Amino acid sequence: MKNKRIVFKVGTATLYENGKLSDRMDKIVELLSELNKEHEVMLVSSGAVGAGYTRCPLDKSRLENKQALAAIGQPLLMKEYKERFHKYGNVVAQVLVTAADFDSRKRTANAKKMINVLLENKVIPIINENDSVSVEEILFGDNDQLSAYVTYYFDADLLIILSDIDALYTDNPKTNKDAKPLKIVTKIEDDMLNQECNPNDKFATGGIVTKLKAAKFLMDRGIPMYLTSGWDLDSVREFLKGNHTKGTLFKGEK
Ligand code: GLU
Repeated sequence: MKNKRIVFKVGTATLYENGKLSDRMDKIVELLSELNKEHEVMLVSSGAVGAGYTRCPLDKSRLENKQALAAIGQPLLMKEYKERFHKYGNVVAQVLVTAADFDSRKRTANAKKMINVLLENKVIPIINENDSVSVEEILFGDNDQLSAYVTYYFDADLLIILSDIDALYTDNPKTNKDAKPLKIVTKIEDDMLNQECNPNDKFATGGIVTKLKAAKFLMDRGIPMYLTSGWDLDSVREFLKGNHTKGTLFKGEK
């Protein structure tokens, strides 16, 4: 793949381990820094609420506490990214959005112009939902779907989700040991989208359903999405070299 605009999405469960930042963040930053030489790279990162909780353990079942945790955690998360990206000579930018930013064509166009300036200057945008001001009516709630919007509205060629879920399986791999990973998916049935959301980490929001919704949104618009492990980055490195052995590629017709 040459000179592509690629969006990466990293979830809380990939970044944090037992309430502490994992060295997986170092590895992801190293990968994105490598790719930024040849491609345009954007990162949609969760982890603000989780990071906030490490400093101030509020009960996150209350919405205003969750908003407060995001406000506490977002700068902490950015600091961790900034320090790591700087080691590779990369500048990062914080971009916080709400679903309402994608509701209006004018706001989306304005945001895209700004993103283009960042990318032309090799600055890596680190995007998250503006959780501290996002109330229900303007809330994505999960970064899987947010990253699909970012990919489509900011004209990216591909979304890569680095997750604790390393592929889509024929059945739930936790309950069925015969479940097999699917390499390519070209159609998502509605009943798959109506399952309950079941994130694997108590600070994560998504699960496989929100990933499928993101994939469906992009497939309907002819944009591919690749779901793979955030633990083993060799699979994404190989995939980008044209060698798809692990992970699921969702690829629909427009
Ligand atoms: N925006 C939330 C955060 O940064 C996470 C949403 C999600 O887990 O998808 O904490």
